[in-house]
Amino acid sequence: EDVVRLSGVRKTYELGGTVEALAGVSLSLPNGSYTAVMGPSGSGKSTLLNLVGGLDTPTDGRVVVGGQDLSTATEAERAAIRGSRVGFVFQTFNLMPRLTAVENVAMPLVFDGWDRSRRRERARELLADVGLGDRLDHKPTELSGGQRQRVAIARALAPDPELILADEPTGNVDTETGERIMRLLGELHADGNTILLVTHERRIAERAERIVHVRDGVVERTEAVTD
Ligand code: ADP
Ligand code: ADP
Repeated sequence: EDVVRLSGVRKTYELGGTVEALAGVSLSLPNGSYTAVMGPSGSGKSTLLNLVGGLDTPTDGRVVVGGQDLSTATEAERAAIRGSRVGFVFQTFNLMPRLTAVENVAMPLVFDGWDRSRRRERARELLADVGLGDRLDHKPTELSGGQRQRVAIARALAPDPELILADEPTGNVDTETGERIMRLLGELHADGNTILLVTHERRIAERAERIVHVRDGVVERTEAVTD
């Protein structure tokens, strides 16, 4: 079964002229698969990820996530899918500045109806998993850039989303933190989560099972990664 299915997806932006960010993309992500999308800057990678995550809608074609057609879903329906099925690991962290690391990670669980002590327990576990077990009560300004990135990842994983979308997750972090993040994604894949990762780095893409090469808004070729 496919968690994500894109068929004939086109996306244009009108900005003093028409930019065709995606020019007809078809792509399926089987349940439990680990796929990297690779391509040069401006090739449509982030647009693709935003459509799969329901942050935007296609101009033409269909985007089906967890059996639901996001191309025809209302904004409220797309928000519900984002909240329950999809975990975003993006470069902009959007942590709440007045909340501690634990409180930030526990936040999405409020909407899922978890009680306070269970929320904090899960947040502590996740922060330990990303190597921040000794930074639980620090606020974002009291953490380094790499540490903030890891808090954001722990928060994305808190609701145990079946689909994890990662946009250049190692983009702004040092080598060691980058390696830690990639190991964590590998463990999530081993646990059965479906992962879609966007990167322009070959070395990072090779951690996936499959690399989808995009250029000028189309899939150029798909490559199986052998280890
Ligand atoms: P990548 O992630 O591969 O760098 P993007 O998906 O961000 O590529 O962008 C693909 C193309 O669409 C680029 O030409 C970019 O300028 C354009 N684009 C992306 N987002 C927008 C937007 N919100 N408004 C207008 N043009 C956009
Ligand atoms: P990185 O190389 O990961 O960006 P930094 O050099 O920014 O790390 O930070 C090193 C250490 O200093 C980290 O353990 C971090 O928790 C701590 N630190 C960084 N900024 C602050 C701050 N504003 N207040 C308190 N501790 C901080």
